[in-house]
Amino acid sequence: MFIEILVIVILLLFLLLMLIYSKKEKPSRQSFWDDIREEKLPVYRLCPLCKSPLEKGENVYSHLYPGHPDGMMHIFGCPHCYDKDRSMAIQRYCPYCHEALSQEGYVIARVFQKPGKTQVHVLGCTGCRLRNSEN
Ligand SMILES: [Zn+2]
Ligand SMILES: [Zn+2]
Repeated sequence: MFIEILVIVILLLFLLLMLIYSKKEKPSRQSFWDDIREEKLPVYRLCPLCKSPLEKGENVYSHLYPGHPDGMMHIFGCPHCYDKDRSMAIQRYCPYCHEALSQEGYVIARVFQKPGKTQVHVLGCTGCRLRNSEN
């Protein structure tokens, strides 16, 4: 009797493992973008625009434009440098050209998936991206 219960328990554990593994299958492109939209990724320790250290719950304001194979992201800043009324905001700088951003400016980045993580590659700001495209 005890052996029978043991076999059933082991079978149930095996089924549970199968269930967990089947859910861990490689995510499709769609769920990749869904993950980012839910702001699971990426997490910044420092604001990329003003280098302020970010506490838990302080997020970088950004807008994601999903695409195939790569998406684009507009990064506006953190609560320290991108205030709604801008009265207390400190100056933002482009991580690419290191020039100060205008009030309406933002940083443009490419978003793509590498095995196991999401990469955000800064391409430039509204200032240097426009200048480069004019040249
Ligand atoms: Zn900032
Ligand atoms: Zn720039």
